[in-house]
Amino acid sequence: MYCGICHTDLHHVKDDWGITMYPIVPGHEITGVITKVGSNVKNFKLGDRVGVGCLAASCLECEFCKNSQENYCDQIQFTYNGIFWDGTITYGGYSEMLVADHRYVVHVPDNLPMDAAAPLLCAGITVFSPMKDCQLLESPGKKVGIVGLGGLGHVAVKMAKAFGHQVTVISTSPSKENEAKQRLGADYFLVSTDAKQMQVGNSLICFFEE
Ligand SMILES: [Zn+2]
Ligand SMILES: [Zn+2]
Repeated sequence: MYCGICHTDLHHVKDDWGITMYPIVPGHEITGVITKVGSNVKNFKLGDRVGVGCLAASCLECEFCKNSQENYCDQIQFTYNGIFWDGTITYGGYSEMLVADHRYVVHVPDNLPMDAAAPLLCAGITVFSPMKDCQLLESPGKKVGIVGLGGLGHVAVKMAKAFGHQVTVISTSPSKENEAKQRLGADYFLVSTDAKQMQVGNSLICFFEE
């Protein structure tokens, strides 16, 4: 099993939000290989490469659950520090094995290394989702702006480039320009504290109205 480290893990470990149920096993960017399946599970088999993200369970009946927006369900339970169907506390991916409901498990394609795939289950989906909502997956050639080049930002740059867009990274750190352009393939880099650069940025980014 592989598991990414999300900043949320650190908040939970330190009980920053006052909701941690100790003992806690963090980790919600998980990939692994299936070693056992329940008798009613049809979409997965032994040996399948799979991923598990932030969600362990939800009500499955509300408007959100029925529209693939389980993350908005008010009975949502998370991969760790949540309450599973059987009433037990959920434990996350910093572990040698994990029990998950098949409805919250995804297949990992063969051409995607398991270690690189793990962070896509939280950091990746977080930046993928707005791109999908803005129809950026099927309409290349847009001008995409990405604010911040951290754990999420660098994934966003790679995805936006892969979907064929012109990418501008906006950062407070001038030292990240090389990484943005050379390593990740961004087209432009703006330092957000530089008013002049930001003015130029207006022409580098498309704005959407919701
Ligand atoms: Zn996360
Ligand atoms: Zn629901």
